[in-house]
Amino acid sequence: MAVRKIVMYPAEILEKPCSKVENFDKKLGKLLSDMYETMIEFDGVGLAAPQIGLDMQVAIVDIEDDSGTIELINPEIVESTGEQTGPEGCLSFPGLYGEITRPYYVKVKAQDRKGKPFIIEAEDFLARAIQHEIDHLQGVLFTSKVSRYLEEDELGGVEGE
Ligand SMILES: [Zn+2]
Repeated sequence: MAVRKIVMYPAEILEKPCSKVENFDKKLGKLLSDMYETMIEFDGVGLAAPQIGLDMQVAIVDIEDDSGTIELINPEIVESTGEQTGPEGCLSFPGLYGEITRPYYVKVKAQDRKGKPFIIEAEDFLARAIQHEIDHLQGVLFTSKVSRYLEEDELGGVEGE
């Protein structure tokens, strides 16, 4: 495994929709391991492939709860309800935090590292983290959704995604 370099804003790769993954091979497994190591190294709760310079619909989320590390290949939100507003940060925007309103609940269809389809339901912070990563795969950055930027003393331990 290896820690990859994080792509910082501005960079073209961060603002374009990523290509679907078609080959569920050993290389993909290796990539997911590297993404995990990179996310841990930089204290993130999620990481998307374009953030390490790859045009692939691959993201991981780990908010350090019972859900463990969630690997999302070609994810798609199929249902969302409710609303939540809270702080978000992004590993591609070090030191920048903002308040964002998103659905409270999402149902997501994705594939695992072997290509097997699965459905995951999430709410609250986990749903927020998943939506942040899926946005990355569509070239959408959190800054386009921030309603108010936050000062450091308003944060209280927000981690990047
Ligand atoms: Zn991010």
